[in-house]
Amino acid sequence: MELDSPIAELVRLTQVQRAALERLKLRTIRDLLYHVPHRYESGADVRQVAQLHTKGDVVLYGQFTKLEMKRSWKTKVPMAEGVFDDGTGSVRVMWFHQPYLAKMVPLNELVRLHGTLSIGSGKKYIANPVVEKAAGLPILDSSVGLMPVYPESAGITSLWFYHAVKRIVEAHPTLIQNVDDPLPESIRERYHLPDIKTAWIWAHQPKSEKDASAARKRFAFEEVFLIQLARALERETNKTRHALPVDADERRVADFVSTFPFTPTAGQKKAIADILANFLEPYPMARLLEGDVGSGKTAVAAATAYAVVTSRPIPGKTFGNLQVAYMCPTEILAKQHFATFTSYFKNYPVQVGLITSSGCYKYPSKVNPDGATDISRTQLLKWVANGEVPILIGTHALIQKAVQFKHLAYVIIDEQHRFGTFQRQALTLKDGTTPHLLSMTATPIPRTLALTLYGDLDLTVLDELPAGRKEIKTEIAGPKERVRAYDTIRRLIAEGRQAYVICPRIDEPDPTKQLALQTRSVATEIKNLQKVFPSLVIDKLHSKMSPAEKEATMRRFEQNETHILVATSVVEVGVNVPNATSILIEGAERFGLAQLHQLRGRVMRSSHQPYCFLMVDKAASQDNARLKAILKAKNGFELAEADLAIRGAGELYGRQQSGLSDIGMEALANVKLVEAARSEAFALAQKDPGLTAHPGLKKQALLKLKDLHFE
Ligand code: ADP
Ligand code: MG
Repeated sequence: MELDSPIAELVRLTQVQRAALERLKLRTIRDLLYHVPHRYESGADVRQVAQLHTKGDVVLYGQFTKLEMKRSWKTKVPMAEGVFDDGTGSVRVMWFHQPYLAKMVPLNELVRLHGTLSIGSGKKYIANPVVEKAAGLPILDSSVGLMPVYPESAGITSLWFYHAVKRIVEAHPTLIQNVDDPLPESIRERYHLPDIKTAWIWAHQPKSEKDASAARKRFAFEEVFLIQLARALERETNKTRHALPVDADERRVADFVSTFPFTPTAGQKKAIADILANFLEPYPMARLLEGDVGSGKTAVAAATAYAVVTSRPIPGKTFGNLQVAYMCPTEILAKQHFATFTSYFKNYPVQVGLITSSGCYKYPSKVNPDGATDISRTQLLKWVANGEVPILIGTHALIQKAVQFKHLAYVIIDEQHRFGTFQRQALTLKDGTTPHLLSMTATPIPRTLALTLYGDLDLTVLDELPAGRKEIKTEIAGPKERVRAYDTIRRLIAEGRQAYVICPRIDEPDPTKQLALQTRSVATEIKNLQKVFPSLVIDKLHSKMSPAEKEATMRRFEQNETHILVATSVVEVGVNVPNATSILIEGAERFGLAQLHQLRGRVMRSSHQPYCFLMVDKAASQDNARLKAILKAKNGFELAEADLAIRGAGELYGRQQSGLSDIGMEALANVKLVEAARSEAFALAQKDPGLTAHPGLKKQALLKLKDLHFE
């Protein structure tokens, strides 16, 4: 038996256990050892209902036999109430102001409840406890100091994991003793991390909290280190690739930028300089441009694209030009960037193409030198293939096989996280060159997460907004503040501005929810708003409309023919209508923080005072820590850090999306740990890019990367 042997060789598995392990992606004995408890419980804390005689903190294991929504008897506060039973007795449980919990807390399923027991006029109850599903009863074994509690999965218990690991340790001790530690010894010593054998024992069978947390810290370090190592190796590989040489003359680009209708910010200048410096290297750029919404990333893209399209494929010759592909996540955005680019390039002999599923355009038009003309896809592709159209903007269809470029030297990706997994290697062209890559994102990513997930990219941050922008006035508004919010919007529209109203849904009511829990939809809000604002023009935008309908709607809104645009979060990414200065978001508590921030960014595009109303249904939501973070944070980055502190990186990039383990996510909150792991990984990759001194380590690093969903 080896560490990589299937778990079934260690213990006999039932069908149910087999399925549960499969769900947890645990296949080998090694996987099992790395599946560490997410917390520990000391037997002293766990009680039985029959023994509850005094007030105070309790942990109970049992199930809810009844759950309902109601209003408190005297004060009429909405609440959830339930009966909790553990076989020895039952106790009343309630949650004030959170009636929806009655639908969310599992009924008739084993849960762990942690709360405070109150005793009032002889009656026992527990108010506002924390409830989580429990995989099994805790291990009530007096010989075990701390009882490991493993991440939950139906079909397999903490007790099972405890015994499986015990079996490895007792029946097959050599498995652990002969393991190669993925963390080099010098690194372990430097950061006082236990070796892998010790860490496994301390994690699964700790004698003390201190040992358990030392083990966790080691696994966290190991995970970040391995990811960083894979990223560092990718960086080294990138240096062996070849890029087409770009004439990156700063003065030439500065002349082009001076034709923009504004002066670039210091951040924009720095970003342009960073990119031009990359263009001078023989290997392709791989850079992430992170800039808050409205920070002006498009201008950076245009300025650097200019350097590329005015470069010759063969240096010294006076014919031909290098090409740029600009990839956008939606058609609306592609069209907007096309319009922006054509305005920047209007005094230059540079053609710009737009390719989307609903049509193709080229600028300038032969008949109308100031405008774009629609052309056939075949014709556009022909001009791209022979190099005549140097800039092609479009949705991700842009880099599909049918689209052949003559000299593609630069790929720009807007809102790159929207594309999900993106294989950079796929960009390598037939002639063996790899285009320079600029990835742009307005999604505020906590620094530690950016360093970890995008460790192979150079990072430029645009951390200032163009001068003259006013700080947005954001307000969390309950039902009572609705009229006042509408009054503000009415006044702003009377002054000539426009507004967005965002709804969580398009139309049909959600059958799984009770009426009280329904969120507003675009369809119903249009009707409501027509009554509130009878003299205003109100229009809608959502994903179920056809591209032509969407385009017509956007055009009317851009031309200020529409006063209020009622939309779903489709307007979230990059839509640019500077005259829209207020946004009212219905059911704000239903949106993620990053999404709310993006939405808010839609109205921060001019020098007018912007307003944002976060509408919440229930009074209790007004003290929601997440929404409050939005009021306080000055920019997306502060918000991302606040979010990380409140919920772990989970909301911005949950474990599901990022593929990091729970421990890895936890590690991200620890800036020092991430930075240390990163600098060790990079030092190692630079000293020994083949990792010859650490056989096996490269494989482990690449394996780790395969779990990640970000490439
Ligand atoms: P984002 O970073 O969100 O993609 P955009 O590139 O769409 O931002 O720019 C937002 C708005 O700000 C646009 O209307 C653009 O013309 C304007 N803008 C960009 N840079 C500047 C600047 N330096 N000064 C003033 N306005 C600017
Ligand atoms: Mg943008």
